[in-house]
Amino acid sequence: MVVGEHRTTKLVIDRDALRQNIKNEKSLLASDTNLFAVVKANAYGHGLVQIAQEAIAAGADGLCVAILDEALELRNAAIDVPILVLGITEVDNAAIAQQYNISLTVGSVEWLQDFQRMAFKHASSNKLNVHLAVDTGMGRIGFREIGEFKQALQLVNQAPFNFEGLFTHFATADETNQDYFNHQMTIWHQLTDDMDTMPPIVHVANSATSLWHLPVTGNMIRFGMAMYGLNPSGYEIETPFKLKPVLSLVTKIDFVKQIKQGEFVSYGATYQAKADEWIGTIPLGYADGYPRRMQGFHVLVAEQFCEIVGRVCMDQIMIRLPSKLPVGTDVTLIGRQHGKQISSEDVAEYAHTINYEIMTSMAPRLKRVYI
Ligand code: PLP
Repeated sequence: MVVGEHRTTKLVIDRDALRQNIKNEKSLLASDTNLFAVVKANAYGHGLVQIAQEAIAAGADGLCVAILDEALELRNAAIDVPILVLGITEVDNAAIAQQYNISLTVGSVEWLQDFQRMAFKHASSNKLNVHLAVDTGMGRIGFREIGEFKQALQLVNQAPFNFEGLFTHFATADETNQDYFNHQMTIWHQLTDDMDTMPPIVHVANSATSLWHLPVTGNMIRFGMAMYGLNPSGYEIETPFKLKPVLSLVTKIDFVKQIKQGEFVSYGATYQAKADEWIGTIPLGYADGYPRRMQGFHVLVAEQFCEIVGRVCMDQIMIRLPSKLPVGTDVTLIGRQHGKQISSEDVAEYAHTINYEIMTSMAPRLKRVYI
């Protein structure tokens, strides 16, 4: 993948903000509760290995990823803390996890039986660390039936497995109405309360649960969005401590011109100048993960909000300037310029999506600078 090293557009990642978000969350947790940093999807666009290293330095006890390859990338970077893959890994690839001491999520008896059969053929001295997922209402992966769950508990307590963890995931922990959250907790208790022995790690909390539902059952949290300084509820619920956004998206104007009243800008000629106007062009576009539908939104230039005019192109965006400004003038698309701010949530709302999607869409082509 080509990274735009020779262009002014960059993501600026504030490591101190990341550290503070982790420290603030840790101060809310019971002393025996571990924090696993969720670094899937290129650490929500922030850079997988760099964020993992920073999070560990700030006190994270382990890492969560979505797919095995992300875990392997971390192991290749000599990161040796516990790593849990949250999605389902194909049984055929599970021996790789076993080899690299990576913990896998399992949600069916069939999976455990298939792996047991395979492991029998090529015996390994390592056990496979397994976290059983319980589907209490997310409707995605995990055990739903008590019978199947009990069968899984029997299997997972035998070789070649190390029954390391048990977890669930809430669908509405970021909402003010707690009815469905409470319903999921009830299902959790129905499925797990009469277990003879619990595995060493029990975890039910994502960012939203750990911000708004503490104390909650378990001894580990999976801390994602809030670690990046972003409110999982958007603007719906206030956070118990001030989150510090970690990422800014900035660039510089690389072309300036004046257009006459009545002239058009960009594909489809959807913007027509109402007067003679100064137009700046900036070097990024939807191929960098900035949504195409942002025409009419704004960026910050010289501490002023400037409108995005015409359609966002693949690699370039045009903005209306308050006056003639020089090439090289700083532009902030996400982040703070002096007293003014554009949050990823503002961008997400305008693009009719959530800030998770804005963050994880930040393309590998964007240079990432860690300050
Ligand atoms: N746990 C699971 C199972 C997830 O799928 C995710 C993210 O989607 C997280 C934790 C982290 O969630 P958040 O970023 O809201 O903290």
